[in-house]
Amino acid sequence: MGRAFVYVILGGGVAAGYAALEFSKRGVSNGELCIISEEPVVPYERPALSKGFLLPEAPARLPAFHTCVGANEERLTPKWYKEHGIELVLGTRVKSADVKRKTLLTATGETISYKILIIATGARALQLEEFGVNGSNAENVCYLRSLADATRLVEVMKSSTGGNAVVIGGGYIGMECAASLVTNKINVTMVFPEAHCMARLFTPKIASYYEDFYKSKGVKFIKGTVLSSFEKDADEKVTAVVLKDKNHLPTDMVVVGIGIRPNTSLFEGQLTLEKGGIKVNGMMQTSNTSVFAVGDVAAFPVKIFGEIRRLEHVDSARKSARHAVAAIMDPSRTFDFDYLPFFYSRIFSLSWQFYGESVGEVVHYGDFSGSTFGGYWVSKGYLVGSFLEGGTKEEYEAIAKATRLKPVVEDITELERQGLGFAVAVSQRAPPPQLSTVIVPSSTLVVEKPLYAWHATAGVVVAASIAVFAYWYGRRRRRW
Ligand SMILES: Cc1cc2nc3c(=O)[nH]c(=O)nc-3n(C[C@H](O)[C@H](O)[C@H](O)COP(=O)(O)OP(=O)(O)OC[C@H]3O[C@@H](n4cnc5c(N)ncnc54)[C@H](O)[C@@H]3O)c2cc1C
Repeated sequence: MGRAFVYVILGGGVAAGYAALEFSKRGVSNGELCIISEEPVVPYERPALSKGFLLPEAPARLPAFHTCVGANEERLTPKWYKEHGIELVLGTRVKSADVKRKTLLTATGETISYKILIIATGARALQLEEFGVNGSNAENVCYLRSLADATRLVEVMKSSTGGNAVVIGGGYIGMECAASLVTNKINVTMVFPEAHCMARLFTPKIASYYEDFYKSKGVKFIKGTVLSSFEKDADEKVTAVVLKDKNHLPTDMVVVGIGIRPNTSLFEGQLTLEKGGIKVNGMMQTSNTSVFAVGDVAAFPVKIFGEIRRLEHVDSARKSARHAVAAIMDPSRTFDFDYLPFFYSRIFSLSWQFYGESVGEVVHYGDFSGSTFGGYWVSKGYLVGSFLEGGTKEEYEAIAKATRLKPVVEDITELERQGLGFAVAVSQRAPPPQLSTVIVPSSTLVVEKPLYAWHATAGVVVAASIAVFAYWYGRRRRRW
């Protein structure tokens, strides 16, 4: 048994949804495109699972957060796919792939062949067993990657109201779940081995702001140690968490957020891998010209860093997916992907955004006892990363633009003094991005592409003027 399609998207997550929208805008014919997903529902905005989905009142439920609502685009419901002649093979795992023959074999025994394949398999949550701890199968131990996980987490939360939860891991999932558990009236203890939360991104100063905020909501932190084992009752339900430092925490439920692993296994030995993902070029094309990879699973050249990176964030999934489709359908008018990494989170009443990368010297700014503050990362004399909590839309746009321009920073003290004003000034001095417009026939899509050479020149001019300003200011300060 088998079917053949021109385009197949393997995976039905965020990237798949955005790729489908792009295909439809560029005009695919009925029956040309197929999406195969292990999940039983059409693509949805995964970040909703740790936010609106976990609210105790008026929680977000499908179809409200199907893609591409997260980018203020059309909501792609099952009806939308039907109307656009896109074949959906849902609730179906692909168990092997043969890139030479251009075929995928599903767990139901069907062979699906393609001319062009987009791999959008994302990642899976790391399991405790991979760290030598057993107990993931206990009914009150929860992970959070899929809709099924989130549905289960809600059930376990409801049966634990007024009780205790232990959250293992101090990253994105741990932080967002801890906030949701508190909102659901559950007492939370967070456990992680690092010195502070969000260790890969936050500085100790930024982290302490969030930790203090969490503490004010009743969250307890146990840092510098890890889970050792679980105590269970006769029904194999976890009743307590035992830590390496011998701490013993009675609990009604456990949430595990200890990282993810990209789903590359189907293609190991067939495609080139790098940074734990499938290596692609600036067109999101893998080492096999008929195969593209997007989203969490793709390791792509991040121009601004001059390096291959694999990102685990929704904005990158959305944009890389659209870029791959542009490269597939209109290669002569598609430039290399030029992406500025962007991460965000919303927890309790807090909301932060980060652009670029968190390397080099850090400068903090703003009011850490209030609600608007941030940080800049300066590497080799350039601004390479910007963080802002509690900003306005315009302020977030300013840090994004400034980071994209990578201005020279000569005087760190002055950068600190100017604070957010530095990004605002840089972004205002930057000329509005010049866009070359590609209008795709038979669709309303307008693809905007910066003119890179011009953009780079503008960046140099801005950098030079900031350097002159900083030098002048430095001299002035020294004279005082
Ligand atoms: C709870 C949660 C909250 C998040 N919050 C944020 C946030 O606030 N900000 C942010 O920037 N990012 C956030 N993220 C990360 C973001 O959701 C991911 O970066 C994004 O989903 C990646 O999209 P993707 O399409 O590459 O992978 P996914 O969305 O994970 O989709 C992969 C799909 O492939 C399917 N699949 C995999 N293997 C197979 C197979 N063999 N056969 C068939 N189907 C297969 C999976 O079932 C899944 O449907 C969050 C992630 C989670 C889990």
